[in-house]
Amino acid sequence: MKIPFVDLKAQYLGIQAEMNRAIQSVLDETAFIMGPKLDAFEHDFAAFCKAPHCAGVGSGTDALYLALKAMGIGAGDEVISVSHTYIATTEAISFTGAKPVFVDIEPDTMLMNADLIEAAITPRTKAIVPVHLYGQMCDMDRIMAIAKKHKLLILEDCAQGHAAEFNGKRSPMCPVAAFSFYPGKNLGAYGDAGAVVTHDMKIHEYVMQQRDHGRPMGAKHEHAHLGFGFRLDTLQAAILHVKLPHLEKWTELRRKHAAHYTSRLKSLVTTPVEKAGRRHVYHVYALRTPKRDALRKHMEAAGVSVGIHYPIPVHMQPAYASLGLKRGAFPVTEQTADTLLSLPMFPDLTEGQVGYVCDQVERFFKG
Ligand SMILES: *Cc1c(COP(=O)(O)O)cnc(C)c1O
Repeated sequence: MKIPFVDLKAQYLGIQAEMNRAIQSVLDETAFIMGPKLDAFEHDFAAFCKAPHCAGVGSGTDALYLALKAMGIGAGDEVISVSHTYIATTEAISFTGAKPVFVDIEPDTMLMNADLIEAAITPRTKAIVPVHLYGQMCDMDRIMAIAKKHKLLILEDCAQGHAAEFNGKRSPMCPVAAFSFYPGKNLGAYGDAGAVVTHDMKIHEYVMQQRDHGRPMGAKHEHAHLGFGFRLDTLQAAILHVKLPHLEKWTELRRKHAAHYTSRLKSLVTTPVEKAGRRHVYHVYALRTPKRDALRKHMEAAGVSVGIHYPIPVHMQPAYASLGLKRGAFPVTEQTADTLLSLPMFPDLTEGQVGYVCDQVERFFKG
C-alpha cells in the first residue's frame, strides 16, 4: 500500500463541485484583487476565531512580519520565541530588525517552556512569540501572565493551529495571531496565503494599510505610509471561503486519526500528548523514538511517506550562524529534532490507511 504524507487531491475531490463553482465565479467576474469575496472570507474567518478583525495577507510569513511591525517591534528590540519551529517564525522577527532570543521547549508537548521565559528577558525584550506547533496551543495562561508582569506584547504563531483551543478559547487570545494558509496547513489555499487576526483595531488598521502600499482603508490614491504588496488575492480568498465551513469536520477527523495512532503506538514510541483543557488539531502527528532514522527507512520501504518537523533547529541553521549558538544551547529542542518522525496526517486518511501505518510501525519494533 502507498500512503502519501498529505493528500490534497482527496480533499479537493470531496468538494469538487462547490470549489469549481467558486473558482469559475472569480474567473467570470475577472476581479482578482480585493473585493467582496476577500471581505467575505475575512469576515467568516474572524468569526471562526471568535475575534473581531481579520486581514488577509500573502502568506503566514507576511502575517507574522506585519503583525510584529504593527506591534512596533524593530531594530534594537529582542523577541522571545523557540528554535523548535519553522524558520519563518524567526525570519519575521529578524526582518523587523529585532533579534530572536530562543527558549527551550517542554519535553512532553515540544512547545515553548514557560518556565524558561523570565530568565531570557532583558531590558530590550519587547515581545514573546509562542508557536502553537503541530496544532496544540502553548501554555497561554502562564505566557500571558509573564507578559503582563513584564509589560511584553504577544504574537501567537498560529500557522499550524487553526481551530485549536485553550480552555475553550481560540487564538488570538492576546491580542493578535498570525495564520498561514499554505496548501498543506489545516486550512489551506491553492497557493500562498495568510492572515492576521486580532482584537485590536489599531493593529488591524496597520496591517490593512501596510499590505496594500500604505493606503488607508477606503482610500484610493492616498498613501499614508510606505507599505507592501502583501495582499491575499481574491482567488485564494474564494477557495478558502469554500473550505472554511468544512474545517470543523476535517479537524475532528484529524483528531480521530491521531487517537487511533496513539492507541496503537503508545507502547512502542513516545506519542504526542494533549494537555488537559486543550484541543490539539494535529496539523502534524509527531512521534519520537531513538530509532528514528531506521524507522523512517522502514516506513518509506513499506510505501508510507513520513516527515521530520523539523530536523535542524533554527538556532543551528546556517542562516542564523551570526547568533553564535551551537549544539548544546537548547538540549530539549536538539534531542527532539534528533528523534522526531511525523506520520501521514490529513482528514481523508481511511481507517485502512491508518491501520496499515500502525502495522508497519509494529512490524519495525516487533519484527
Ligand atoms: C507554515 C508556517 C509558517 C509560515 O507560513 P507561510 O504561509 O508558509 O509563509 C510560519 N510558522 C509556522 C510554525 C509554520 O508552520
